[in-house]
Formats: sequence, C-alpha cells, structure tokens
Amino acid sequence: AEDFKVTPWEVTGDIDYDVLMKRFGTTPIDEAMIKRIAKYGEVHPMLRRGIFYSHRDLGWLLDEYDKGNRFYLYTGRGPSGNTHLGHMMPWIFNKWVQDTFKVKMIFQMTDDEKFLFKDLTLHDTRDMAYENALDFVALGFDPDNTKIIVDTENIDRLYPIALRVAKKVTFSTAKDVFGFEGSSNIGKIFFTTLESAPAFLPSEIEGRPTPVVVPCGIDQDPHFRVTRDVAPGLGYPKPSMLYCKMCPSLNGGDKMSSSDEMATIYTTDTPKQVKKKVGRAFTGGCVSVEEQREKGGNPEVCAVFKYNYYLFEHDDAKLNEMAEKCRNGEILCGECKVALTSKINVFLEAHQAKREEAKEIVQKMAFDGFK
Ligand code: SF4
Repeated sequence: AEDFKVTPWEVTGDIDYDVLMKRFGTTPIDEAMIKRIAKYGEVHPMLRRGIFYSHRDLGWLLDEYDKGNRFYLYTGRGPSGNTHLGHMMPWIFNKWVQDTFKVKMIFQMTDDEKFLFKDLTLHDTRDMAYENALDFVALGFDPDNTKIIVDTENIDRLYPIALRVAKKVTFSTAKDVFGFEGSSNIGKIFFTTLESAPAFLPSEIEGRPTPVVVPCGIDQDPHFRVTRDVAPGLGYPKPSMLYCKMCPSLNGGDKMSSSDEMATIYTTDTPKQVKKKVGRAFTGGCVSVEEQREKGGNPEVCAVFKYNYYLFEHDDAKLNEMAEKCRNGEILCGECKVALTSKINVFLEAHQAKREEAKEIVQKMAFDGFK
C-alpha cells in the first residue's frame, strides 16, 4: 500500500521508508558505506540503526574529503514554533558530523518559508528563528566554524545565488516537484531557490567549487532534487545528501508534530509536562497487567521503545535487552515510561542550562548578528 504522502510541508499516512527511497530515487546507506564511515570515527547510533538511512553521492563526498577537499555541512530549520525533539534529532547528528570530520557548517533559518506557508507574521517567524537558534547553539556546535543564516536578515548573501537558481527552474518543474496549484501564492514557488542558495554559498565563500553535505529529513528531498539539477549549469558541485526518517510521535504516529502538543516534547518542557506526555504515550503493551505478563508486549509499535531507539538509549545491548524483556512480559509499560521520563528530563535539564548560555554565543554565530 502506498497511501502515504511526504512533502517538505506535509506528511500523511503510514510512511514506508523503503518505498519512499525508491520513489525519490535516493540510495540506501548499506553495510559497505557504514564500514567506510567507521574509518573516520565511531559510527553514530543513528547511522548504525538505520535512522539516517539513505543518501545521494556520499561516496563522492568522502572521496573528495580523502583527497583533502573538505566539505561544508548545511542544514536548517523552518522557524514556525518552539523546538521539539523531532527537530533536534537531525541536529544532534549534524553535531556528530562536525566533530568527526572537523568541518564548517551553515545553519539556515527559513523564516521567509514559514511566513509564506503558514498563517504567521514576519515578526513571529523572526522571533522564532532566534528562539530555535538557541536550541541549535546549545547542542555545542563549534562557534568558530558555524554560521547561522536567517533568510530575511541575511538575504544579501543569498539573493544573488537564489536569482541564478531561479533563472534555471521553470514553473512546470516547480509544479511537478512540489505540486503547486493555481491558487498557490507566488512566494511559495520562488522559495525553493532560497533553500538551494546555502548549498552553493560555500563555493562563493571559499572561491572554488566546494563540496557540501546536507543531513536532514528525507521530506526535504524535493528541494534538493531541484538544487542538484541546477548545480552543474551554475558551476557548483551537486550537494551530497544524508537523509533521516522522521522522528516518531509519542502518539504512535510517524512524525512528531506541533499539531499534537501532548504527543510532542518541546525543549522548554518542564519535568512535570514530560512526565504527563510520556505517561500518555502509545505503547505496544496489553490491556491488563496479567495479559502482558503472559503474552508480552510489542516494542515494534511502541512509541516509548522508539524514543529509546531514536534518541535516548545509545547502548545496543541495553536496547536489545529492553526489547527482549518486553516481548517476554518481563517488563511493564509503567516502568518503561518512568525510565524514559527520567532519561528525557536528565537530557532537558542539561539542555536548558546550555540554552541559557547560548544567548551569549548566538550573536557570534549569526552571519551578521541577530537584530
Ligand atoms: Fe513499550 Fe516498554 Fe510497554 Fe514494551 S513494556 S510495549 S517497550 S512501554
């Protein structure tokens, strides 16, 4: 069944990630690729566990790196609300890439996108760009090698590149790739050029063709298909892509989303809020304790288990033990939820402290300062 939809602005239905990869034409990250990556440092659990599971031209990027041609990292955020764990997941991975390969990074805030696609003012999206940037900075990116670019503030850096991209993309292509209709505002149609621009900015900064890798959610692929198509005609290398699955929702759905606040953990949540949300999470447990002791639970469908798998249990042996005990009915959902609540709260307490400190650093990392 292919009754799911994944676009940069909408995810519906149960996602089959293998089907999606085929639909988009991206390449699986296989064992051989993981082995190759292991030469540079300890492989991140998100790679080992197939959360970052697909790519474009990663082999070429590593070939260039081996020759001494360092790449830039580029990822971003559409600032439309508070940061939640689903946003943080790919950023945590980006931090690992920066540490492992010692590379420069560009983080783009597409406040213009959120203004065009949502019912928000430019003032709202600008404020959120700042708030979201604090969460990004709090993850500990290297302040000397990381720049945050806010579309409406740093447009002078992006606009000349965006224009050259725009001249190469026809309206028919935008319509085919993104499904725009006659009623779409024309800003939406132009916007994709702004998401292309930071993929080419490193070549402008360095003054030579510079490889770039973009680790992000696979929902962003439509933008980067356009970016990659126009790259050779503009004299830039095609950006390599590293794609992750969506961070699941606590309600058992495929994507954590602000549309269900009770199933979403925000970086600013209090321990009490986290306890309440995890307490209501969808699990693979049985209706009664007796039944679960007898038949066991199903970690495959359990949001509590998925949170350990995606973010909070890095130790494979411990994770396997949890699955095993669940299936055997040796643990119950109540205790699992208490354990996850405590892991999330330990993480958030440290993150919130670093988020405060980020207020000092964020100006240094902003391209031309936050106004
Ligand atoms: Fe999920 Fe734990 Fe319940 Fe198993 S016991 S279904 S892993 S919450």
